[in-house]
Amino acid sequence: MAKLSNDRYEYIKRKATQTLTECNINSIPINPYQICNERKYKLIKYSSKYSGDELKFIIECFPYGFSYIYNNEKIIEYNDSIEHERIRTTLFHEIGHLELRHTCECTLSETEAEWFGAYIIAPPPLVNIFKPDDYIELSKIFDTSKECGFNAMNRYLKWKSITVFQKDYENTMIKQFRFKRQYEDIEVIYEL
Ligand SMILES: [Zn+2]
Repeated sequence: MAKLSNDRYEYIKRKATQTLTECNINSIPINPYQICNERKYKLIKYSSKYSGDELKFIIECFPYGFSYIYNNEKIIEYNDSIEHERIRTTLFHEIGHLELRHTCECTLSETEAEWFGAYIIAPPPLVNIFKPDDYIELSKIFDTSKECGFNAMNRYLKWKSITVFQKDYENTMIKQFRFKRQYEDIEVIYEL
């Protein structure tokens, strides 16, 4: 993983927030399909395009997914045979490549897309609304894998320890959200 500068981290966080606001995402868990729909990113499941040896080959080359631009169309292909949380992580990662307008496959672009995906799936200012007790609860609320939830919890705690005033883009994001939490048969709507 390449090391990013603080300015670049800040830029990626702003871009991720902009993605959420421009795509009118206002409920939790954040829906990557809605982002793709709003942005007109075409989604292709491996199972709908490949079969047999071709499918095996593509999974060997790209176990989770990949994105590209073809005839001015932005396309994300993804492995739909993996677990649901992993698909979500993959889509957010690929959305990151497209939103950050990456043009090459390199360590830096991978790091940036990873960071974008990790941020957008559970942004600390939104986690702060729910104040989950632990990463297990966080992963349920934000529909992430346990591993992703663990990292998001650490990121949130770090954010909380250094944040006195929320930044402009963080406030913009929070204002837009009208939270819907649906799990364990409970629906809680947070009006802000
Ligand atoms: Zn990538």
